[in-house]
Amino acid sequence: MMTTYKTIYKCGRCGTTSYQPVIGRDATGALRPTGQYRCTGCKVTFTEFKDWWGHDGAGHNAAQQPGLAAYPAVVG
Ligand SMILES: [Zn+2]
Repeated sequence: MMTTYKTIYKCGRCGTTSYQPVIGRDATGALRPTGQYRCTGCKVTFTEFKDWWGHDGAGHNAAQQPGLAAYPAVVG
């Protein structure tokens, strides 16, 4: 069972409160962060948290960013 960190933030589309960093393979086959994140609910990908929330009201407080899922989303 996947463990995720719950946050006070949630997806503006599906209401899920966790997301995963998106990991992809580079030319050598190594797994590397792509700089994107993916909602664990509706699977929408985003690079700006405010795009996930659907608003930018809380996006300026770096100390209160949403929690990362325990396991990254591996693509490719
Ligand atoms: Zn979602």
